[in-house]
Amino acid sequence: MFENLSGKLDRAFKTLKGQGKITEINVATTVKEIRRALIDADVNYKVAKDVTDRIKAEALGRDVLISVSPGQLLTKIVSEELTQMMGGSKVDMDVKGDPAVILISGLQGSGKTTFSGKLARMLKSQGRQVMLTACDIYRPAAIDQLKVLGEQIEVDVYAEPENKNAIEIANNAIKHAKANGKKIVIVDTAGRLAVDEVMMQEIEALKEAVNPSETLFVVDSMTGQDAVNTAKTFNERLDFDGVVLTKLDGDSRGGAALSIRTVVEKPIKYISTGEKMEAIDVFHPDRMANRILG
Ligand code: GDP
Repeated sequence: MFENLSGKLDRAFKTLKGQGKITEINVATTVKEIRRALIDADVNYKVAKDVTDRIKAEALGRDVLISVSPGQLLTKIVSEELTQMMGGSKVDMDVKGDPAVILISGLQGSGKTTFSGKLARMLKSQGRQVMLTACDIYRPAAIDQLKVLGEQIEVDVYAEPENKNAIEIANNAIKHAKANGKKIVIVDTAGRLAVDEVMMQEIEALKEAVNPSETLFVVDSMTGQDAVNTAKTFNERLDFDGVVLTKLDGDSRGGAALSIRTVVEKPIKYISTGEKMEAIDVFHPDRMANRILG
């Protein structure tokens, strides 16, 4: 539907092919195209500007080969730069402790419960003894949702529907895990529709109490610029270890990945690409770079 970036850059560069090096003038004409492509992909404006400044510096003086179009060459440079900015390569979770606790945080509707199920399924398929815990004390439906997922993937779900104390539930879940030989406890938490102080205090206290080896922040990639602000707020309070970007099966180009990585300086660790339990992937910066560029 849209012309891809390489095509656009080729047009901007149509006179350059085979003419030697990329020069300041040539780059200036294309930087705008690159910046627009990034902003179209939901990359934060400041981040997009930073990227294009780096690309300019990187591209200047590069030889343009006869066999490669300038558009292709620049797209390659942009893609490499974005990959580096998103951490270069994948970053694994830290799963330590007996049991290891993985805390799942994020706003309501971001995909926390669905992701908790997916992660449990993935870890189980790697031969790990994993257990899920429902710590959403506000929405009984969230507990039922997790139980349904647990049955589907054949993973135990610990819940105390009558208990309104999330810390107590989580601590009991950890005891239950120890008693039943479970090595990893995934704690699904309550979310609100917007960042609110009560929720933040609760999840901070929960983190303090269960001492997770990994705290993940789940965010909907379709929320564009808001995703960065939410990530910033959660990180200030929770100092999380990694980000899960959900709903990448939609038409979002994934610019949130770049913005969050550069603004919050925490790695994206997983992506979620659908409602089914199999729709989970480890985050690969190079693949996301290509998606952002379209
Ligand atoms: P929570 O409130 O954060 O626990 O969010 P849920 O896990 O309940 O997800 C909210 C809605 O988004 C549900 O209808 C999910 O099926 C859906 N959902 C979650 N992850 C994805 C995803 O990666 N892609 C799509 N298309 N839908 C998703």
